[in-house]
Amino acid sequence: MELVCLDLEGVLVPEIWIEFAERTGIEALRATTRDVPDYDVLMKQRLSLLDEHQLRIGDIQAVIADMAPLEGAREFVDWLRERFQLVILSDTFYEFSAPLMAQLGWPTLLCHRLLTDAEGRVVDYRLRQPDPKRASVKAFHSLNYRIIASGDSYNDTTMLEEADAGILFRAPDNVIEEFPQYPAVDSYQALREEICRASERDITP
Ligand SMILES: [Mg+2]
Repeated sequence: MELVCLDLEGVLVPEIWIEFAERTGIEALRATTRDVPDYDVLMKQRLSLLDEHQLRIGDIQAVIADMAPLEGAREFVDWLRERFQLVILSDTFYEFSAPLMAQLGWPTLLCHRLLTDAEGRVVDYRLRQPDPKRASVKAFHSLNYRIIASGDSYNDTTMLEEADAGILFRAPDNVIEEFPQYPAVDSYQALREEICRASERDITP
């Protein structure tokens, strides 16, 4: 049995915090782990910015509802789901990604959660578990699935390593150079071909 694990941001949808920063004009929300390496410090900074600008969960989701998946993403997801079991492994939050997941037809998503108070203010966040992408692939292996995984960035490399086959999709040059063991592709058609090549079954891309 085969299961495909896909990253979300950068593979099927844009980087949500960056798009959100652009749409709200809150420059400081563009910060990523490259600027603030400690994820907890970064998230606390994001939450205090949301509070400062009085953005409640409903406002945030309204902004995100205006975003769209990457061009061709929905067709790619539909193609995959007809041929494989698909699970999306992401470091996003359910409350954040919901409007985009709706546009992808609600594929299964394992990610994290934002905590809100009665007024809808985002007060905290909960990570599901440490190294969640690798842990998920390990868990699927324990269920006897063979895993084909694809992602675009450093936070995907433990998932790719744990998988039976790993593929980089639209990854930056430094990631491609550092992880030459994985094929690197830039289009959904090329990703289909790599997934078919990695599959033990005879599937046409
Ligand atoms: Mg990504």
